[in-house]
Amino acid sequence: MDTELFVAWFEEAARLIHRDRDRLTRLDAAIGDADHGTNLDRGLTEVRKVLADSAPGSATEVLTTAGTTLIRRVGGASGPLYGSAFRQMGKTLTSPVTLAGFAGAFEEGVVAVERLGKAALGDKTMVDALAPASRALALAVRDGVGVRKALDQAALAAVDGAKATIPMQARRGRASYLGERSIGHEDPGAASAALFMEALATVAG
Ligand code: ADP
Ligand code: MG
Ligand code: MG
Repeated sequence: MDTELFVAWFEEAARLIHRDRDRLTRLDAAIGDADHGTNLDRGLTEVRKVLADSAPGSATEVLTTAGTTLIRRVGGASGPLYGSAFRQMGKTLTSPVTLAGFAGAFEEGVVAVERLGKAALGDKTMVDALAPASRALALAVRDGVGVRKALDQAALAAVDGAKATIPMQARRGRASYLGERSIGHEDPGAASAALFMEALATVAG
């Protein structure tokens, strides 16, 4: 998994999030403050620009640059959460990046979100898409699956995880203020996390 793949990941993620900006914002309108799509679209547009200008020389640089930009540019909980995840992933990766190395770094990234957000599986947050994706990567490594297939499986797990947030009651973030009224809606952060995973699977395929 070379440096160009990681740059392409953020370019594709920026494209998908721009495409689905209004859907993400609508999801956030139902159980939050209707800014998730615009927050991430703004952040990823900036990430794309910064990556194009900085010509990063390693996957670590790509991820830490993207993470720092998201922390700076995304107003809202999701910026620091995604930003910390990518920064932690970047710090953990060693080159050359193998699937096993990436799976391990991804897991560390998810742990960073869980720690910062004090969120666990089932709390109806982005963790509900990211943790299943991480588990799918770990299983793919265990089973000796190739990079493409592993990333496809991770993307599918993330989509399933995002859909699984619909019947959940939110325990973290703004949606938790709604109590039982948060039930019946997909979590916007879980939906965007699924887009990040779809983006990675697309550029690897
Ligand atoms: P804000 O809620 O500040 O407006 P966004 O709308 O950009 O920020 O992002 C909301 C998403 O962030 C939620 O849908 C959820 O997935 C995620 N999120 C919010 N708080 C937490 C938390 N404490 N832990 C994990 N994820 C969280
Ligand atoms: Mg919001
Ligand atoms: Mg907000």
